Amino acid sequence: MKLKLGTRYKRNDGLPFSFGEPYGEFVGRTAQGWPRFDLPGRKTCAVNGTDDGFSQVFGHVVVLSGGMDSTVALYNAVDKLGKENVRAITFNYGSKHNAKEYRCASNTCEELGVLHQRIDLPFVDALFKSDLLISGGGIPDGHYADENMKSTVVPFRNGIMLSIACGLAESWAFDCVVIGNHEGDHAIYPDCTTGFIDSMGLAMRDGTYKQIELISPFNRIRKEDIAVIGDRLGVNWNETYSCYKGDVEHCGTCGTCTERKEAFEIAGIEDPTTYKN
Ligand SMILES: [Zn+2]
Repeated sequence: MKLKLGTRYKRNDGLPFSFGEPYGEFVGRTAQGWPRFDLPGRKTCAVNGTDDGFSQVFGHVVVLSGGMDSTVALYNAVDKLGKENVRAITFNYGSKHNAKEYRCASNTCEELGVLHQRIDLPFVDALFKSDLLISGGGIPDGHYADENMKSTVVPFRNGIMLSIACGLAESWAFDCVVIGNHEGDHAIYPDCTTGFIDSMGLAMRDGTYKQIELISPFNRIRKEDIAVIGDRLGVNWNETYSCYKGDVEHCGTCGTCTERKEAFEIAGIEDPTTYKN
């Protein structure tokens, strides 16, 4: 069966599955050296929809913020494809926590031996309206899904970053762009929803000679699941940073700190983070 981009399928366990999400485990390589993934309920998962059921997707560009989710996405890509087939890009767009995040992203790439590209987008802080930016107001405390957290949304941030990542992937002759959004992001971020990911994936595929694929491995799972995957992959959590306030230590009360604490707690994994509160 040939999978179609933007089409929603159902796995045998009833969970929806959007083409482009590499569910399942890496189970080896084809004779040509392409990675194969096992998808529950299917014999093999064709990440790019090839008829033979084997993935022919190689070369992943991971959008790495330095937070938990994208760091696990990077470890995951390196684990499945090998560091030589993975590159990371980090955007410096003037958020309050960019400097802290960038240092973590840089250290993680060094630890993993992955090439790391920094991209500065100074116009975002200068022109966009968001409390996440240095130019914006204070960061609200509370739960991530609370209405007041919407003030921290940077308009169309993922659309902008993915467009640049896609252009870079084509320039580098890489095949895929990986984004670490997850189900919990859907509540307040319009550019993290499944609809957005599917549409953006289609645009990237149609807009490039190489038909660049967008992979969102965590689109249907929650942050605590990402913590479990990261734990299994041996992620160095000390080199991840979440707090929107951007201080040396995590504040412990903003939306992302709350979400980070909860993820470790629900996953039953020891949280090495030092919180102020
Ligand atoms: Zn915080």
